[in-house]
Amino acid sequence: MLLKLSNPRKEHFQHWTTREILLQYCDKSRITIKDLENLASDGKVKLATHEQELEAVLSQDKKKYNVGNFETINRINGAKSEELVVLPSEYRFTAQDSRKAIAYKYSSLLPLNKFMGENNPASKVLEAGIRKLHSDRDNYVNRDIIGWSWFGQDKLLRVVPIMSSLKGLELRAVQNLAWYKHEFTEFAKEGKMFRDDLTLSLSLEDERKIKRWERYVRHLESPRREGHNLQYYVNLIDLNHGDIIQQETPFERERVMNFRTPSRSNTFAKYHFKMCNIPLESNVDKTNNSSVGKITVWDMYGKCYCLDKNYRSDRRGNAEEYYFCPHEVASLMGLKARLEEHGKGPRVNSLPFLIPTKSMIDFVDKLRYRTIMLDDDTETGKVKMRALNDTEIGMLAMKKLIAEPYEKNVIAEFDTFRKTKYDPLLDLVKFR
Ligand SMILES: [Zn+2]
Repeated sequence: MLLKLSNPRKEHFQHWTTREILLQYCDKSRITIKDLENLASDGKVKLATHEQELEAVLSQDKKKYNVGNFETINRINGAKSEELVVLPSEYRFTAQDSRKAIAYKYSSLLPLNKFMGENNPASKVLEAGIRKLHSDRDNYVNRDIIGWSWFGQDKLLRVVPIMSSLKGLELRAVQNLAWYKHEFTEFAKEGKMFRDDLTLSLSLEDERKIKRWERYVRHLESPRREGHNLQYYVNLIDLNHGDIIQQETPFERERVMNFRTPSRSNTFAKYHFKMCNIPLESNVDKTNNSSVGKITVWDMYGKCYCLDKNYRSDRRGNAEEYYFCPHEVASLMGLKARLEEHGKGPRVNSLPFLIPTKSMIDFVDKLRYRTIMLDDDTETGKVKMRALNDTEIGMLAMKKLIAEPYEKNVIAEFDTFRKTKYDPLLDLVKFR
């Protein structure tokens, strides 16, 4: 996500309008198809079809151009920053369509159950599923897949739209910034005191705090691609104390835990919800393999009642289904990281969410901020330009996973990026 430092908090998560996207290329109050044609003749348009003639796509005559999904992904990947990406209406996936697809067609989801072996960590199962999409890419590339799904032991379906997974990570990245802004100073005081006051006898927990404090200081001092160190941007950014995700249940209460997350769109709103069946595993006792009836990560579900979920609530039959929303993803990712930081004690070993590489994040951002779709205007019958919705972006992101090797787009485990020293937070939030 792009985060404009001069913007107030309420605008940080806003979708860009068609106009905002086009204004980057054309400084006019009203931008028409004619202006788009001018941009194309100036070489500033990247069409995501085989042919590079805008007229063919504008004609709406499907015989005049080829969509070619693999080529589309290549072209979006290859679009330069001064180029506007233009998609034909074949990539349309309206809110109504997406509702139907999710509610009535399992084929719009990658099913994970068949990749679950005994005690396979969730990230490995998701990896196997995504690798399957790629190895069988000719089969999958023309399907409109928007995420992955599985059935828990209760036989109820769980769904993770890829955009929930990505937006959850973004929310967590933003909460990290809010924490740096509002709580780090207090935390640092304690760390510094523990380090400098030699009369104190420190517990293991205190020693850990010193280590954490030193690591956070290094992180704040680390340079960003935008030119300054992270601290510089933390100082400028408008974030509230309420943007910090709160765990409202102490660690000891296993399986069901309450969280509070900020609303992305409403600065003052908060979501309070519980996550159920959290598989807290003992860090020490790994020999206990009596997996019969054991709650696993696949039995987890959340009870967040945000718009993301309400919107999808009138589905087939009476059976309940669980959709993971960005708030739930962010809370669980945060819980996992915190438990790891605390060292001893229980852990959430692996989660079925995706950690994207720079290539994937840049791709999604390009679709959000520098891409328009040529769609029919139902009123006038003419072609109009519009920004993509989240389902359309997610569907293209899944096509990218189908088209390209796994490693290009996904980091399987946080450990991997620790080893490679790549920090996805550098790209998940880009300052401008
Ligand atoms: Zn939610």
